Amino acid sequence: MERPRILKFGGTSVVDAAAFERVAAIVRDRGGPRPVVVVSALAGVTDALLSGARQELDAHLDRHDAVARRLLTPPAAARFRKELERARPDLAALLDRLDGSPDARVALRDEIASYGERLAAPLLAATLEAAGLATRYVDARCCIVTDETHGRATPLLPETERSTRSQLLPLLDEGLVPVLGGYIAATGRGKATTLGRGGSDYTAALVGAALAADEIQIWTDVSGVLTADPRVVPDARPIPRLSYREAAELAYFGAKVLHPKTIQPATDRGIPVRICNSRAPEDPGTLVAAEADVRPGAVKAIAHKTGITVVQVASTRMLGTYGFLRALFEVFDRHRTIVDVVTTSEVSVSLTLEDTTSLPAMTSELQALGEVSVEPHRAIVCVVGEGLRSTPGIAARIFATVQDINVSLISQGASRVNLTFVVEEARVREAVRRLHQAFFAGAP
Ligand code: ADP
Ligand code: ASP
Ligand code: MG
Repeated sequence: MERPRILKFGGTSVVDAAAFERVAAIVRDRGGPRPVVVVSALAGVTDALLSGARQELDAHLDRHDAVARRLLTPPAAARFRKELERARPDLAALLDRLDGSPDARVALRDEIASYGERLAAPLLAATLEAAGLATRYVDARCCIVTDETHGRATPLLPETERSTRSQLLPLLDEGLVPVLGGYIAATGRGKATTLGRGGSDYTAALVGAALAADEIQIWTDVSGVLTADPRVVPDARPIPRLSYREAAELAYFGAKVLHPKTIQPATDRGIPVRICNSRAPEDPGTLVAAEADVRPGAVKAIAHKTGITVVQVASTRMLGTYGFLRALFEVFDRHRTIVDVVTTSEVSVSLTLEDTTSLPAMTSELQALGEVSVEPHRAIVCVVGEGLRSTPGIAARIFATVQDINVSLISQGASRVNLTFVVEEARVREAVRRLHQAFFAGAP
């Protein structure tokens, strides 16, 4: 039996009726014999749901209706409209509750956010049906099972695998194309959760791993993973091949094109991930697989991430003792705060945080360990390439390029495919542009 193939379409690939039509053509032409479709909320919808802007939300719901009227048969469009008309008062009631009960907020927000994908997926299923494919809408909350960390839930892998297989395999066996929303999930008790912003990529990878897919395709609005964020470096260009390690580092350190957790399930099962442009499906895109082309000295890409805070804890107690680092990291553990980059010297530890919600409480606990300093408004720059491993002098070249920019917290990841450092947020765009110019100008 042929292996299924996962095709994931981001919000930018389902903005309007023309985009939905492009998606239908891609599923038909590129889905292989057993496609499974994962789709995000229409562009802008999750933002509107989470901000609770009711007028804006109404306009977005009308946009769904416009797509349905353009592309579906009149009875199918009427069926979808019914669903839309049910969603409007339900959403209004949920938004009222959000105003009235701050305690219920995180769980309620997930419930509200879930409507984006819960409307996009049936609309896409009906669109594919109208284009001649036999499809079935599947509620992703019946497939992806998570813990109760609302807003950024962690999937429970054995349960997710079991539910996904039992929901989707019978449909595939009947020759149907399952269509499910990304990003949304549910706890074992059936409460809606979400996988974190941009999480539809992760859904696609989880589904791909559960079904032992032959490929996970991420369809977006750029022609693959580019050598830098195109919003900062307009002449950034697509990278034909990346290793899992390279892609994971790029995603983790800011390349928004892939959700940071996407690569892990694919790596575990050795499933290739392909990133393609739904507006230019003929473009080759990027293939992420176990082996990439390694050219010594080759920098593959530069990622960056803003909104970073650096925390430094200095203490002579570190010198020649043990237990200090454990005590330090226990503070972050207790406050469930993720640390991205860490460097240590004999007498100090520096680390970066993205989420500073618990920083005031953590600072007072850290002060028991040493002198604490906090530097907000920082950014991480991450230079990635398998070739970095074996290339002497590359660090010198990187730092010479940004020599007049204040660099702190330099770290070469354990996998040695990345070199990561921190700069002031105000200068990060300049740093990325200069590095791109230094490493990519003129090359083919
Ligand atoms: P989707 O709606 O398809 O999930 P996203 O907006 O989440 O799309 O991701 C695609 C965007 O990621 C691109 O339009 C681009 O602006 C941004 N991006 C940031 N860094 C990179 C990079 N290195 N390569 C490609 N895209 C990047
Ligand atoms: N719709 C969700 C978001 O905007 C998930 C995604 O786009 O991947 O975050
Ligand atoms: Mg995305």
